[in-house]
Amino acid sequence: MEYAPDSILVLLDSTPEGALAKSSAGLLGAAAAIGTPVALVLGDGTAAAQAAELGATAVLRADSAPVITTYTADALAAAVAHVNPDAVLVSHSIEGREAAARYAARSQSGVIADAVAVERDAKGIVARNSAYGGAYNVMSAVTHSAPVITVRQGTVESRAAAQPERVIELAVPASEMRTAQIISVATATTSGSRPELRGAKTVVSGGRGLGSQDQFALVEQLADALGAAVGASRAAVDAGWVPQSYQVGQTGVSVSPLLYIALGISGAVQHKAGMQTSKFIVAINKDPDAPIFEVADFGIVGDLFSVVPQLISEIEKLKS
Ligand code: FAD
Repeated sequence: MEYAPDSILVLLDSTPEGALAKSSAGLLGAAAAIGTPVALVLGDGTAAAQAAELGATAVLRADSAPVITTYTADALAAAVAHVNPDAVLVSHSIEGREAAARYAARSQSGVIADAVAVERDAKGIVARNSAYGGAYNVMSAVTHSAPVITVRQGTVESRAAAQPERVIELAVPASEMRTAQIISVATATTSGSRPELRGAKTVVSGGRGLGSQDQFALVEQLADALGAAVGASRAAVDAGWVPQSYQVGQTGVSVSPLLYIALGISGAVQHKAGMQTSKFIVAINKDPDAPIFEVADFGIVGDLFSVVPQLISEIEKLKS
């Protein structure tokens, strides 16, 4: 099987039910902008068909295995040997990060983690990162091998054109690496019908300015009016108002929605690190000097307990 000399291998995550993860469209879009996307899918034919629809010119398919990560690194090694790509793109998800690191350590490749964009210049593939809370845009490249790049979900807008389905069964020689067996999988129930924070198009986050767990409900009300996911600053998490899984920032989730609304959040560098690549940022804060306004596209200086109910009522009016 011949692969284009500018092939980009894309490892696509899939859900335990076998569907492709939401990150897939952006990863294949990123790959198509810098070369010819070839997908690696671990799962059944449904995921492979979806990958072609999202722009994979070829799909390497292997069965998934009930072990943690080691097998994915085995599959990546087999796929790279097959395709000889210019770069390997992986989602910056928990599974993707671990697979990228394991494969790169094994193959002595260079890893660029949490890229927000990828490009190709005269010398090869270049990744862009948003560093120090978005204060710097960093460009980096690996000079000795095909880079393994994890891409932050939601940062790539371009989409690849659908391709005819071309599935290649990939033989994955099992390594002798020690691994942990997956004995059972239980789906964690998420509250209500709100979208998942990672990958949401709109995020409404609340901080210490909400004052209490009861008052944090205002964040949820605005989120529900907009069909948005709910996020929080670490101060709100540490106060016990919301679970840690809501935390946006350096030690929480990195998000890149089309719209990010920060309520009563000062904009510490560790918070900005997780949201500054959002496409449009709205901040509501009573302190005009709050650093969040430095990154906001639209800022309202005011008491959120006065502003947010008015906002919700206007949104409801527009909807009816
Ligand atoms: P504050 O900084 O206390 O800000 C509250 C804001 O609310 C103020 O600006 C105030 O003006 C405003 N306000 C108060 N009342 C009202 C009102 N009625 N109406 C409108 N505005 C009001 N933080 C994160 O968020 N995510 C992380 O991942 C993270 N990781 C960290 C990692 C490390 C190693 C460290 C050291 C810190 C980390 N932090 C993180 C903590 C971070 O430094 C800040 O302490 C935290 O983000 C502050 O949260 P906050 O903005 O909600 O609270």
